[in-house]
Amino acid sequence: MSECLFCSIAKGEIPSDFVYQDEDIVAFKDINPQAPVHLLVIPRRHITSVLDTSDEDIALLGRLQSTAVKLAKEFDLDTNGFRLVINCLKDGGQAVFHLHLHLLGGRAMNWPPG
Ligand code: AMP
Ligand code: ZN
Repeated sequence: MSECLFCSIAKGEIPSDFVYQDEDIVAFKDINPQAPVHLLVIPRRHITSVLDTSDEDIALLGRLQSTAVKLAKEFDLDTNGFRLVINCLKDGGQAVFHLHLHLLGGRAMNWPPG
């Protein structure tokens, strides 16, 4: 079992509701959804936070975003829209230290965020 929760999920060591998988990326339903659609899109490779990415990760970061957009269309969020969020460290509200994009939709979001 990996020490990192999302590494364990990506390896299938912890059951989760997958909505997408490829060689580099997995996406699954958030266990505590904050909106009717709340998906997490993560790299299989352990990256602690977005601060730990560099120019070498530009392709991966682009693919994480394009996967989120494809899922947004699949989950019918392309008419009313959605929100993509990356929380980073303490002030960003990051609780799981494996890079992930939140895809939130199915209701109107507030701005500014809390
Ligand atoms: P963050 O605060 O950006 O680090 O978000 C972490 C997210 O992971 C939260 O929205 C949690 O609800 C979600 N989460 C924690 N454990 C699990 C799990 N086992 N399966 C799916 N989502 C999870
Ligand atoms: Zn990890």
